[in-house]
Amino acid sequence: MTKKQRYEGVIRYFLEHNPNAQTELIYHTPFELLVAVILSAQCTDKRVNMVAPDLLRAFPTPTKMSETTEEEIYEYIKSVSYPNNKARHLLAASQRIVNEYGGEVPSDYDAMLSLPGVGRKTANVMVSVLWNEPRMAVDTHVFRVSNRIGLTNNSKTPYETEMELTRNIPEEYIPQAHHWLILHGRYVCIARNPKCKDCGITEFCKYYASKMKDSDGK
Ligand code: SF4
Repeated sequence: MTKKQRYEGVIRYFLEHNPNAQTELIYHTPFELLVAVILSAQCTDKRVNMVAPDLLRAFPTPTKMSETTEEEIYEYIKSVSYPNNKARHLLAASQRIVNEYGGEVPSDYDAMLSLPGVGRKTANVMVSVLWNEPRMAVDTHVFRVSNRIGLTNNSKTPYETEMELTRNIPEEYIPQAHHWLILHGRYVCIARNPKCKDCGITEFCKYYASKMKDSDGK
């Protein structure tokens, strides 16, 4: 199977079976999404969705959050991973949004990337989810699943994965493909013991093909 056929097969499958894939993080404004994405690093979306509402009720805007302290933010988020760092980043990002961007989360990619606590993955999630820009955010699921299926060629870094997926997935599907791969990695192609018997893309999966070949040879 050529790489092109693999990509086409996988995209066709997800378009048919999950045409409305979207983030599981709950948000209503760009600021709420920013807060949720910063909180979600190394943490489950489920936990973030439990913690974020109270934090955002107390500090609903960048202005409100910029006027508080790390310690106060920490009290709301202490059950997520790395709460100290995240409290520091949320405060500093809010202050920068207020001081540099008039209190509105910037829509420009480089401006987004300049915010404290916002790396490439977070910036890509923000612009693709909010503004449908063709940027692929690579988290641990996207990284693992892409290598397993063979969409990437034993990629060594998230950046390599991002570049290869972006080169091969048509632009109009990139924002959605991010969610397809995350959800597939979260519920089917899990880290240990992927659930291949429940998977709809076995015929396009490199890992599955090699597993079948090994079991034939036994
Ligand atoms: S066949 Fe197995 S390894 Fe391949 S994508 Fe599906 S669950 Fe993952």
